[in-house]
Amino acid sequence: MNNIIDNHEKIGLQFSGGKDSLAMLHLMREHWDKLTVYWLDTGDAFPETVALVDEIEKLVPRLVRIAGRQRETIEQYGIPSDIVPAANTPIGLAAKGGTVLIQDRYSCCMRSLMWPLHEQMIGDGITLIVRGQKNSDKLRAPIKSGYVEDGIEYLFPLEDWDDSDVRAFLKDEGVELPRFYERMSASPDCMTCSAYWEDGRGAYLKEHHPEAYAEYQSRLNAISAANAQAITFFNMEIGG
Ligand code: SF4
Repeated sequence: MNNIIDNHEKIGLQFSGGKDSLAMLHLMREHWDKLTVYWLDTGDAFPETVALVDEIEKLVPRLVRIAGRQRETIEQYGIPSDIVPAANTPIGLAAKGGTVLIQDRYSCCMRSLMWPLHEQMIGDGITLIVRGQKNSDKLRAPIKSGYVEDGIEYLFPLEDWDDSDVRAFLKDEGVELPRFYERMSASPDCMTCSAYWEDGRGAYLKEHHPEAYAEYQSRLNAISAANAQAITFFNMEIGG
């Protein structure tokens, strides 16, 4: 890893506020003077994450906060969902006169977070991106550590770790896990995100953030209503 770090002058470490990027940040401590930490603020971040970033900003030499586009993306492309009925796409709405525009979660993340983050790093002349991606992650970019594209190299120091390695490392380092891991299985970028249902956001929001919970539930209700007819027809067809 040291060789790779030494080969670059402009290095960006992507920090999300989740346990993997937190472990990676501490693992890279000896290189902090060469790194710029990048955090994308979706505009709907958990206050717990904002507080953590505030603390990290005091520790590292450089931290850049990037404004995400979650609100504009949802206004333009619709609320994110894990299931998108055809009737709630732009063409579906135009043809059937529906009201709730829905987009898939990956497009929402790409438009709101990933593109703004990447654009900023490119603009800053970053040539090495350090990310806490692990091979054991269910959701990860389809590239490996060492991949190079358009003059940018990617380094994944935790590539061979799993969740238990991350938790053990943080414990050994005396670094506290963010509170949302009490209930949630993944680090959330947006409080009121109406997708990523497998993360268990509802119970955590209900307990700690009732206003965001109400907004979250209202979006889920809209998705439920939008999907009802398609699911009814689907159930009539399957095995029919
Ligand atoms: S976390 Fe959810 S709301 Fe935020 S950008 Fe991704 S899909 Fe959109």
